[in-house]
Amino acid sequence: MKASPAEYYGSMVFDEKTMKERLSGASFTTWKTCITTGESLDISTANEIAEAMKQWAVERGATHYTHWFQPMTGATAEKHDSFISPTEDGRALMDFSGKELVKGEPDASSFPSGGLRSTFEARGYTAWDPTSFAFVKEHSLYIPTIFCSYSGQALDKKTPLLKSMDAVSRAAVRILRLFGDTETRRVVAQVGPEQEYFLIDKSLYNRREDLRMTGRTLFGARPPRGQEMEDHYFGMIKPRVAAFMQDLDEELWKVGVPSKTKHNEVAPSQHEMAPVFSDANTASDHNQLAMEMLKKVADRHGFVALIHEKPFRYVNGSGKHDNWSLSTDTGKNLFRPGSTPSQNAQFLLFLAAFIKGVDEYQELLRATVAFPGNDHRLGAQEAPPAVISIFLGDELSAVVDSIISGTDYTDTGKKTLEIGVDVLPEIPLDNTDRNRTSPMAFTGNKFEFRMPGSSQSIAGPNVVLNAAMAEELQQFAEELEGSEHFMEDLQALLKRVFTEHRRILFDGNGYDEAWIREAEARGLSNLKSTADALTAYTDKKNEELLIRHGIYMEEEMEARGIIHVENYKTVINIEGRTMADMIRKSILPAASEYSAVLCSRAALKKNAGIGASYETELARQISDETDALAKACSRLEQSLNQMPGDNIEALHYCHDEIIRDMDEARDIADRLELMVDKKYWPFPTYADLLFSE
Ligand code: ADP
Ligand code: MG
Repeated sequence: MKASPAEYYGSMVFDEKTMKERLSGASFTTWKTCITTGESLDISTANEIAEAMKQWAVERGATHYTHWFQPMTGATAEKHDSFISPTEDGRALMDFSGKELVKGEPDASSFPSGGLRSTFEARGYTAWDPTSFAFVKEHSLYIPTIFCSYSGQALDKKTPLLKSMDAVSRAAVRILRLFGDTETRRVVAQVGPEQEYFLIDKSLYNRREDLRMTGRTLFGARPPRGQEMEDHYFGMIKPRVAAFMQDLDEELWKVGVPSKTKHNEVAPSQHEMAPVFSDANTASDHNQLAMEMLKKVADRHGFVALIHEKPFRYVNGSGKHDNWSLSTDTGKNLFRPGSTPSQNAQFLLFLAAFIKGVDEYQELLRATVAFPGNDHRLGAQEAPPAVISIFLGDELSAVVDSIISGTDYTDTGKKTLEIGVDVLPEIPLDNTDRNRTSPMAFTGNKFEFRMPGSSQSIAGPNVVLNAAMAEELQQFAEELEGSEHFMEDLQALLKRVFTEHRRILFDGNGYDEAWIREAEARGLSNLKSTADALTAYTDKKNEELLIRHGIYMEEEMEARGIIHVENYKTVINIEGRTMADMIRKSILPAASEYSAVLCSRAALKKNAGIGASYETELARQISDETDALAKACSRLEQSLNQMPGDNIEALHYCHDEIIRDMDEARDIADRLELMVDKKYWPFPTYADLLFSE
């Protein structure tokens, strides 16, 4: 019998319970105070924690430790040092000090810094994040850390996330005080990210240069069957996949990732895992672990896990729905409609802040999900459009309308909803995903942000959700603090905010072309591609928001803008070059060979006095397409060689020139695939990749 998950869940995590068992009372209390107040640890406590951590880790087979951080690549980074400390008599001790726990100096000079580090101070520093637990994995003690430059600028995704969580907490606590809550000390952003991915047979994957180089297929004709049977979504999980999923869950549970849900997704070979939500920082660390484990465990099962947003044309891509809410340190969800008039008034104020924040910072939010992989999803009728709007559902929309217009909000004949007096109608908890086309759906007690892509770190989108919320709550607090007629002033504020920001509310079909036109008429931004969205990232308004709330310094924000643009340029360049390589080295030779075979067959048949119109005609068509492809490839290569040096120019050049050339080349290559004998085609087709056993 296998052990029950209850026995090994979190067994590899140096969590609060373990700390309580293994630390002196004084040190445990010091650590607890530190994580609530944000003060730094004194060295003697750090020494004691380090010693306890090391002993605990060594018992679990660890020989090394690593500061684990999240550089601007969006992935994680680690450099391992052993605990070994040689002694004079030729032996070794296992040593680990408080200093080593708290601070590290990886010579991490090759990570993107957007110009924040000049080479003479290239070193980055890591510092322990005591709010995120250390864990043991593959014989190393992993210590979650932030990563910053010599002069203290953040070079990672975790630092701003932590700062944004502080900002929204400060503002939200001020609001709670207005409603007589004197207990809550901290409000915590809660996140549950749903992770989609594809599982592909490893031997087939290895034969696709595009998958290996870029994570997606750059070629592939439409297979005879795609997702139109609608039989994969929530369908029976194949035994080989089920074995993988079981193994994945076990690995995740050991390191304390609360993996909860697994199912097949819409596209063939596409699946999803979702954890139970947790605070945004932990959720972000855990999602990184989940992506890493997906890849490692897949490998053990002869699969490759594709986390790219759009591995295959013609079937759905993969997203990462970011379920977001705020809760108090006492566990109350601030987006849960209450059962008393006062609770409802508070709920509506948080709702108003959210609506105002998303409307005012829609471009910034859009920019956080702008990168090449996601361009294939957003606006492609399979994921939300590139226009941001909020779905509230019938009941809540009726409430908002009633506050705006002073008319009935239910059929009970009641007039305008009176804040602080009336109760809300029942707001159903949405379990059915009834509007899948909305980028931001209220699902009963949280918002589901559906634009993030499957491969991205969730830190960026959550930084902006937290920051926008912090801003609006702070404005509301300033307006309402000291109010003498609180409920009336609140009612007026809600009416004003709902009226001014109603344009962002939309419950209809987001895939409808008519919506895109209406959205434009409403003045909502439609930033169609990364090239459009990234330029909004460093708009003054957006910079000011993040700087005002202490989340970024100006130069950090500029640096991030540069890093995103450089990443876009680099990815498109690699995709273009991979494509050209595959055309020249694989596709053209294969097509040429097959047309030659057809010609010699035709010649043989003609010699024998038999007609050969099939062979001749096909050879001619292949030959025509081959010539066209060679030309298209030359054009692509030429465009790649003319990449402008200026970043912003390059951004638009990639989008307007290189991607257009790539699309043209692909279309020809895909037509050739349909004409060439399978024996001659140089790599597995979509049917092979998506429907393998
Ligand atoms: P289902 O529809 O299967 O019931 P949900 O859509 O409720 O699942 O949940 C999807 C994700 O949202 C999960 O990771 C879940 O833990 C998370 N989630 C649920 N409630 C909240 C909340 N209040 N705040 C943030 N995330 C949440
Ligand atoms: Mg959901």
